[in-house]
Amino acid sequence: LCTKSDEVRLAEEASNKYGSPAPTIFSKVIDKSIPADIIYEDEKCLAFRDISPKAPVHFLVIPRVPIPRISEAKDDDAELLGHLLIVAKTVAKQESLTEGYRVVINDGKHGAQSVYHLHLHVLGGRQLAWPPG
Ligand code: 5GP
Repeated sequence: LCTKSDEVRLAEEASNKYGSPAPTIFSKVIDKSIPADIIYEDEKCLAFRDISPKAPVHFLVIPRVPIPRISEAKDDDAELLGHLLIVAKTVAKQESLTEGYRVVINDGKHGAQSVYHLHLHVLGGRQLAWPPG
């Protein structure tokens, strides 16, 4: 795990890159000022259960840096974005989603994004329909 000064540095770098995005409820999950069922964490990201699950297993993977939405990600976020996908599949395995699952990123109004801190949804544990509504 990284030290406090690493976290401060990451946050400063993020605010340089993305301006000063409005803090969201996920900032409070990251700094643990509100409770969350965190099932994975490392120096770059966290995974925690969605408070309003849409499937028997529904967790979110978020970067510690507050990228507001996927459409605002920068080219040099490529490694971080890849890491989020690797964590999604690792935690899906940990959650025993052996029959498959879905990874979703909602972006903006048409994507029905409600929290403007980038997050991957991972949904599984039942048969999902396609296409989404
Ligand atoms: P979006 O619609 O932005 O793609 O998804 C946001 C997700 O965050 C929703 O599924 C919602 O249930 C979840 N969520 C919102 N606030 C909280 C919270 O305080 N804690 C947790 N664990 N999930 C939250």
